[in-house]
Amino acid sequence: MHDFGDIFVKILVINSGSSSLKFQLFSLPDFKVIASGLLEESDDEQSPARMTFPVNSGETRTINTTLPTTQERPAISAMLGLLRAYDIMDDENDLAAIGHRVVHGGEAFHEPVLIDEDVIKAIEKLIPLAPLHNPANLSGIRLLREHVPDIPQVAVFDTAFHQTIPEHGFLYALPHELYTKHKIRRYGFHGTSHGYVARQAAEYLDRPLDELNIISLHLGNGASAAAIKNGKCIDTSMGLTPLEGLVMGTRSGDLDPAILFYLSRETGMNMDELDNLLNKASGLKGICDENDMRTITKSAAQGDQRAQLALAMFCYRIKKYIGSYMAALGGVDCIIFTGGIGENSAIVRKMSCAGLHPFGITIDQEKNALRHKKRAAIHSTESSIQVLVVPTNEELEIARQTLQVLTTASLHKGKNNAI
Ligand code: AMP
Repeated sequence: MHDFGDIFVKILVINSGSSSLKFQLFSLPDFKVIASGLLEESDDEQSPARMTFPVNSGETRTINTTLPTTQERPAISAMLGLLRAYDIMDDENDLAAIGHRVVHGGEAFHEPVLIDEDVIKAIEKLIPLAPLHNPANLSGIRLLREHVPDIPQVAVFDTAFHQTIPEHGFLYALPHELYTKHKIRRYGFHGTSHGYVARQAAEYLDRPLDELNIISLHLGNGASAAAIKNGKCIDTSMGLTPLEGLVMGTRSGDLDPAILFYLSRETGMNMDELDNLLNKASGLKGICDENDMRTITKSAAQGDQRAQLALAMFCYRIKKYIGSYMAALGGVDCIIFTGGIGENSAIVRKMSCAGLHPFGITIDQEKNALRHKKRAAIHSTESSIQVLVVPTNEELEIARQTLQVLTTASLHKGKNNAI
């Protein structure tokens, strides 16, 4: 790792979705968060924006505002304007690099890369696999290349962590040429998060990651499980797209594909309607009309039967994945709960692990009920498998990987020649 001394440089992390842009600015060398924010692009020419940053007194200040975003002034420019307006980044040359979350790296990218024209073309070629996300990621990259051409940009792929999955795990049982011609295979997502929490768990357990078998459960609005053998991913629940696997906020997860043929024949639903049904109107929302786990938990406790069913289905699917990944891994050292639900919902953790005592998984209900802002073990003394809650931090992981790429590339950028 480069010795930064007391030189002050920053890394900006951008996570652009189809209708929003999240950003976080870190100072080096200690990866302290200088500012984080969210811009939601709306059809009106004013987009809601929020930015939080620490102020001198040690407290944080939150700005809630609206910013003009137009085609000529997209969200990225608005974000740069916001950072400047509050003197958080007076000069872009303060930036050592910009790290982008890029959703789909296909088979082309096994690790983060420094962005150049070839990388841009490769991300472009992957648009059919992520039609909503990759274009949004690309437009941010392109705009910043115009705006701050001298600042290196790094792409960190959501799929990269899963590129170690062996062929028998990533292929679907379909005619082989669908893979060779159309690249239909399991790619997996949430890779940055699974990789981050796995390393955090190894550090917490004080054991080398490459000696650990881990089941990582990222449970948020999107949810996925990963089986990690000796530190490398060997299977994951999301597939060609983030629709497969666990029950999610609005996505169905696993189902019999023949349901689609049946629905199409019976109701005349077309492709777009089916896509919408499975991605936006299913999962928790489909079961109980609500996709926020906090509301569902509350309603379930008050006796709402649909909410109880949604909770039961959500946790039962997780339990099935735990079981199948125990078999795939041939022995598990630890299970990690992360993501908004995994980190915060004691009831989901409890129900997902209920009855797994014969397999060496027992949760300590008191430890589980505590609020966990930091890494914490929640298994009981009789549990042979450790169960951990590990807060994820995808932005920090992207910032770290961005720095790593820069260090490896031995680039010297920024006015301080810090890297
Ligand atoms: P994420 O996509 O990781 O931001 O997670 C969003 C999900 O986490 C939503 O379903 C929230 O309801 C859920 N969540 C956040 N806080 C809590 C909490 N305290 N208890 C239960 N679920 C929570």
